[in-house]
This record gives sequence, C-alpha cells and structure tokens, in this order.
Amino acid sequence: MTQLDGQVAVVTGGSRGIGRAIALALGDAGARVVVTCTRQRAAAEDVVALLQQRGHEGQVQQFDVADYAATTTAFEAIVQTWGRLDILVNNAGIRRDQLLVRMKPEEWDAVLHTNLSGMFHCARAAARTMLRQRSGRIIAITSVIGMTGNAGQTNYAASKAGLIGFTKALAKELGPRGITVNAVAPGFIETDMTRELSDTQRQALLPHIPLGRLGTPEDVASCVLFLASEAARYITGEVVSVSGGLTI
Ligand code: NDP
Repeated sequence: MTQLDGQVAVVTGGSRGIGRAIALALGDAGARVVVTCTRQRAAAEDVVALLQQRGHEGQVQQFDVADYAATTTAFEAIVQTWGRLDILVNNAGIRRDQLLVRMKPEEWDAVLHTNLSGMFHCARAAARTMLRQRSGRIIAITSVIGMTGNAGQTNYAASKAGLIGFTKALAKELGPRGITVNAVAPGFIETDMTRELSDTQRQALLPHIPLGRLGTPEDVASCVLFLASEAARYITGEVVSVSGGLTI
C-alpha cells in the first residue's frame, strides 16, 4: 500500500496496544511515524525498530500529553525534524476505575488530564502546522464507554464523551481549511488495558458482542488507516464504533 507516502503521522501512546498497531499500519501505508510514550520508552523504541526493519522511517518522542508545555515543545521538535505534520492520532489514554463515592480527586484529574486535556494539547499543537499546510487528519481514540457509560468509570466516560464533543466542534472549526477531525470508538480490545478482565467477565461480555469476540488492536488500526487516507476525504465530525456490534 502506498496511499500515505511522504506523510508524517504522530501516534500518541504508540508504544503499546492499539497505538502500536496504528503506528505499524500507518507506517506500512507509507507514512513516517512519530511514536510517543510517557514511561515505556523501550517499548516505543521497539515499535520504531520494527518500522525501520520494514523499510519505513520513524522516531520516538517521550512526553506526557497531560503536560501542555512538554507537549507543545515536542510537537515543535517533530515539525522541526520532519518539516510537516499530516496525521495526528490522539490515542494516549488511561483508566483509573472507581465508584464515584470512592473516587479520589487525583483519580478524576489523572484521567481527565490525560484523556481529554491531552487531546486539547496535541490537537492545538498539530493544528498550527496543519492550518499552514491547509490539510490534515486528526483522529481521536474515544471509547464506546463515552456513549453508553459504565458503572465505576465516571471519570473515563466523561473524558471519552468529552472527546466526542471536542471532535465535532473542531471538525466545524477546521473543515474550511481542509482538515478533517474524526473519532474512533473501540469496544473491548485485547490490550494491557483489558488484560485484567477475568475469564468470567470475558464470558459475560461475549453475548453482548454480535461478532462474538473481543477486538484486536489491528481491528481498530484498520479503521484509523481508512480515516487517515484520501479515501475518507469527505468524512468529518464522525464517530465510528469498532466494537463488533457491542453498541447496536
Ligand atoms: P494501553 O494501556 O495498552 O496503552 C496506553 C498507551 O498510552 C501507552 O502507549 C502509554 O505510554 C500511553 N500513555 C498513557 N498515558 C500517557 C500520557 N500521559 N502521555 C503520553 N502517553 C501516555 O492502552 P490501549 O492500547 O488499550 O488503549 C489505547 C486507547 O484506546 C486509549 O485512549 C483507550 O482509552 C482507548 N480504548 C481502549 C479500549 C480497550 O479495550 N483496550 C477500548 C476503548 C478505548 P507508555 O507505554 O509510556 O505507558
């Protein structure tokens, strides 16, 4: 595939899980991929090494998306190195599940700052370059939980619902300048984030998933690749569920 040849993509949280699969899919489509992480630098370096083995270019950037100054500086460095920025995949995210009455302010803040403020920081930094180029793709990884809610996840659901509103508002703002903004809402995907589900919890989930299995990171990456491609040029402000039908 060659549809992203020469483009520069940033995948936040590209070191593991869904972000890793997205980074590899964009690289295989010809993009030069900046893989970001906050703690697990070695994992991010492995992804870039894999991209290079496959004949692609890539780079690691280590910063906390919840930190406005660090994020802005990292994006300046990215544009300095690569000369442009075409695709932002805002994937970095965390969970700190707790029932509301037991939730500590730190658990609320950590999730909102990373998942939602992180999008503000990254999109703001990326949009400056995309506006100059009059082109770009911004893709937020939200969650079906942002649409359905889930007991014990008020912080996570609020952050993911916030991403959907953010996506729609930004799509209206940037559409006239040739930049699309969309969101992908995964269901239950096999990653470190869902590893702690017990066998019993998995078995209980399956009857609610018409396609009969949890998703893979690659299932999500295929959708992101489409939204990043020229084929999706007339799609903006949308939320695409990749959930095996969980939300029907
Ligand atoms: P993982 O926990 O496997 O990976 C999370 C990634 O985010 C890591 O690369 C991590 O970096 C990075 N990250 C976390 N916090 C920060 C931060 N403050 N700054 C920069 N990077 C950070 O998650 P998944 O792959 O499962 O999830 C990816 C996204 O998909 C998340 O937004 C999640 O909410 C969403 N999602 C996941 C679902 C699932 O079932 N797995 C379902 C629905 C949505 P490091 O390696 O350095 O820690």
